[in-house]
Amino acid sequence: MADKVITLTDTITVGELADQLAIPVARLVGELFKNGIMATVNQRIDFETAQIIVEELDLDVTLEKKAQDVVQREERTLSKTAQSRPPIVAVMGHVDHGKTSLLDAVLDTTVASREAGGITQHISAYQTERNGRKITLLDTPGHEAFSALRQHGAALTDVVIIVVAADDGVKPQTVEAIKFAQAAHAQVVVAINKIDKEAADVNLVKTQLASEHGLNPEEWGGDTVMVEVSAKQGTNIDKLLDMVLLVADIEDLKADIDTPAEGLVIESHMEQGKGAVVRLLVEHGVLNVGQFLIAGSTYGKIRTLQDYAGAPLKDAGPATPSIVTGFKQLPQFGDHFEVVASEKEARLKASQYKQDASKQLSSATVTGTDLLNMMNKQREVQYLNVIIKADAQGSLTSINDSLKLLENDELAVQVVSSGIGDISENDVHQAVSSQAVIYGFSVQLPIAVKRVAMRDNVSVKLYKVIYELLDDVRDQLEAMLEPEVIETEVGSLEVQGVFKTGKNDSICGGKVLKGKIIPQSYARIHRGKELLMEVEIENVQRQQQEVKEVFEGEMCGLRLKTPGKIPLEEKDVLTVFTRELKKRTLAS
Ligand code: GDP
Repeated sequence: MADKVITLTDTITVGELADQLAIPVARLVGELFKNGIMATVNQRIDFETAQIIVEELDLDVTLEKKAQDVVQREERTLSKTAQSRPPIVAVMGHVDHGKTSLLDAVLDTTVASREAGGITQHISAYQTERNGRKITLLDTPGHEAFSALRQHGAALTDVVIIVVAADDGVKPQTVEAIKFAQAAHAQVVVAINKIDKEAADVNLVKTQLASEHGLNPEEWGGDTVMVEVSAKQGTNIDKLLDMVLLVADIEDLKADIDTPAEGLVIESHMEQGKGAVVRLLVEHGVLNVGQFLIAGSTYGKIRTLQDYAGAPLKDAGPATPSIVTGFKQLPQFGDHFEVVASEKEARLKASQYKQDASKQLSSATVTGTDLLNMMNKQREVQYLNVIIKADAQGSLTSINDSLKLLENDELAVQVVSSGIGDISENDVHQAVSSQAVIYGFSVQLPIAVKRVAMRDNVSVKLYKVIYELLDDVRDQLEAMLEPEVIETEVGSLEVQGVFKTGKNDSICGGKVLKGKIIPQSYARIHRGKELLMEVEIENVQRQQQEVKEVFEGEMCGLRLKTPGKIPLEEKDVLTVFTRELKKRTLAS
């Protein structure tokens, strides 16, 4: 029988996929979990993940990727007073092809100073000027930010600068960037970078782009603008910006001004003394200090308004990345924000949003986390949650595989998330919410992220040797193992006199029946066949002298530490034992 074919777009929520596959969500969540992905029903997974999971589920289903996922641009009818706005430009490209260097060259700053601003998570937004015209730049550091942009910011992107290193050519993330531009209906400008390098082969890059990806350079009669640049030496940066403005002008980019401001939340975090610090990208309207804003279920009154670099702004119009304070709580990245007329309206809308969201949640059967918790309880397995970041797919796979080998019936390593690239603020946030330890292999921990990790008490461990990383995980697991309790019986005694039964201690005397009686030990009190209780032996005396041991046949006095007043009687028998805690190792 032929497989059923299901066509999917680039990403799909877990719930939708389960629907399409006609299997219970819990089964899908469980399978994802087995593969180290902790996903909730509403979480999106990418096509590749879906494909792997479907294969493992062994269903008669073949997944097919939709040829091109088209982002629906919201058709907004602009009013007569709409004004021209700056283009919003996403800078994308394969890792190490010089995206950061190019942004540095354009913005005339360095990464270090940008990181000091604490923006490493999600999309970062900047603005520059060329010939008196503003250009808004979106940076997607790392793959997470890239998919974040794909989900939330695609409709905003007017132009994509695709950075390709002339000495390395088209690579997987170059292709991803091209697909993104097509899906977002954005104009493309290719920046062929590193032309100062000896190994640079501009023609090869152009040939690859033209023959394999349908991007024909203008000078070859095509319509793709390609600019040869050197981010390092600052060559042709102005020309690149001119070209960006030129292609942006193909579309008459306008935005409404006379409308309550609205747009996208691109980053949010808490800062001491400031509260919620929220980065916004305005789409329409103009933001001013004192306005009331809502974003998702949170609202606030704009207390301060700054540009992307932290300089005070009087107002922020369309396509302006800005930083505001005044939100009561943190809005989520990707939330739509809008200005409302009053605090009352803000409060109402935010609570309405909350109600809608909770309705959605309660109808969403069981969440991945719930399910995981349930599964954990059933199996009584203890989990060590980890986040793994590595420099390359190869090392990541090998770490993930090796971690599985460390598991036993009691303990398991749960990879909350894993990915390629440096430790990001997002990783730290995730570590906080899942109480995970972050392990980095051959990656960096940027200073700004380190600060956040320290503040949030997140443990980040960096390694350059895989087995050292694994050894540490093993140590962590062993520390979680309940120690083994070893009891050794040393002797027994018959009570022949009870001298005191106090609230927390008793004094009695008796004869050692066998073995020896020692202080700092434990005793179980038996009356006939009945076991009464367990007590501690604080000290042992013989002829009013404290002694270290008393042997079979001898008489002695005992001071017992007791859990309350005990009903000790003559003829009761104490079996005396020592108790040690022994650390266990994974092999035991
Ligand atoms: P990203 O991963 O795309 O952000 O790449 P980076 O901007 O971090 O650059 C990766 C490496 O390439 C760094 O060592 C840069 O110094 C170097 N690089 C970037 N642009 C150029 C360039 O135009 N010429 C040369 N020679 N090196 C460059």
